[in-house]
Amino acid sequence: MTLRLSLPTAEVYVPDGVEAGAALARTTHLAVSAHQDDLEIMAADGILRAFQRDDCWFTGVVVTDGSGSPREGLYKDYTDEQMRQVRRREQKKAAHVGEYAAVVLLDHSSSALKDAGNPRPVDDLVEILRAARPEVVYTHNLADKHDTHVALALRTIAAVRRLPPDERPARLYGCEVWRDLDWLPDEEKVVFDLSAHESLQSALVGVFDSQIAGGKRYDLATLARRRAHATYAASHATDNATGLSYAMDLTPLVIDASLSPVEFIRGALDRFRADVEGRVNTFQG
Ligand SMILES: [Zn+2]
Repeated sequence: MTLRLSLPTAEVYVPDGVEAGAALARTTHLAVSAHQDDLEIMAADGILRAFQRDDCWFTGVVVTDGSGSPREGLYKDYTDEQMRQVRRREQKKAAHVGEYAAVVLLDHSSSALKDAGNPRPVDDLVEILRAARPEVVYTHNLADKHDTHVALALRTIAAVRRLPPDERPARLYGCEVWRDLDWLPDEEKVVFDLSAHESLQSALVGVFDSQIAGGKRYDLATLARRRAHATYAASHATDNATGLSYAMDLTPLVIDASLSPVEFIRGALDRFRADVEGRVNTFQG
């Protein structure tokens, strides 16, 4: 099976060498991220669930080309093209370390992804969703503060909605990168227990040396955020966890294709505001 992806430079990389169509078809958990390393920061739940299993497989999709990445230290003088190559290599290393079914590098520019009039990123995602038929899809959440992340969350929602209802994933999760989701009311949080394989989690983020070399310790910060969530979580179900990450359940946007993403996120923000105002009102005397 050949995937029809819009850019000739797009690539399906399969760490264990299985044919690309078969590699994608075994997917149960699919994550769609804007950048190289976002998968490992936001979708560790899917990676860990599939690790060392043959009945459960994780596939990652990275939509942008990485050419505009910040660069410091060893990478300071790299051209955009050299950064693009470095980041592709790093993403493939992570796919090996995490035993992914496949990683799909779509190679779009950030501006192409942010352009709502450009159909190609959504077309590519529809093609991948049809080939992979995942049960669970992870992407960015609608309250992220990175423009490219929010654009991709919207493209992912659009792509899922292009599928017939019986071919859509059962769950769509909007995950944390550039903004935590601890502000979501507890009953609305999707909680991923990431207590297992802590050193593997660290290694997965750690292979992205080009992003860490400038002093941005995403490896330490990502693991620390998981630890902080575990300690500060309220739910009794998480008492024994040493690492948690949160997601926003975007599944209602899959089930009801007429629900607007703005209305959906406004509902979550309104409930947060009501929770904070209610507590202040109660105790101000
Ligand atoms: Zn990103």
